[in-house]
Amino acid sequence: MDLVLFGPPGAGKGTQAKFLVDLLEVPQISTGDMMRAERKSGSELGKKFDEYMSAGKLVPDNLVLDLIKSRLMRGDAKNGAIFDGYPRTVAQAEALDALLDELGREIDRVVSLEVPLHEIIERVTGRRVCLDCGQTYHVRYTPPPQNGECVSCGGTKIVQRSDDTEEVVRKRYEEYKAKTEPVLAHYDAKGLVRSVSGVGSLEEITQRIKEATGVG
Ligand code: AMP
Repeated sequence: MDLVLFGPPGAGKGTQAKFLVDLLEVPQISTGDMMRAERKSGSELGKKFDEYMSAGKLVPDNLVLDLIKSRLMRGDAKNGAIFDGYPRTVAQAEALDALLDELGREIDRVVSLEVPLHEIIERVTGRRVCLDCGQTYHVRYTPPPQNGECVSCGGTKIVQRSDDTEEVVRKRYEEYKAKTEPVLAHYDAKGLVRSVSGVGSLEEITQRIKEATGVG
């Protein structure tokens, strides 16, 4: 199955994608995670990504396309993928359609997670992440362990992402409204979109996504 998890930054796409990986037996493809890995490597490309990411802006489509192309060619994605944070523009959605078409596939479902802006700000500014394995925490709901060691990998670098400040979140939300929301119409015209509330417990939201994808 090829599933797009859609929604504003901070809607919980990444968290939910991780739950769905086991269920659907396809990998999560997060362009944001791939860009952060590139940035961490210190490469020229990573520096380029950083210019946009730290300003809350979208990385240009041509750079994103290169990333997604090489990721889709990896063997683990041969039966499908959960796209998290991609596509974020109509041009990216069209490019993804073309890439999948070459592989004899198409997007099967788009689940749109709906979360109001005030809740997004609360979530994102409280988010903390393990630099070693990507495990996320929230200072109020799922605080990092007091000994500072990540529950998943034991790493000790649990930090706030530099683009998780309120100022950058507001900027990212503006970008979402202007450039990303129109992607929904692209998929809606194909009858693929199911909207679910992204507010509630993690389990409740996973259940709603399962129902919307017809797998649970
Ligand atoms: P995320 O982790 O998905 O919230 O992405 C973090 C940041 O990476 C975004 O605010 C963008 O600057 C950049 N980014 C991630 N995915 C994309 C994409 N598909 N298109 C453009 N920029 C992206």
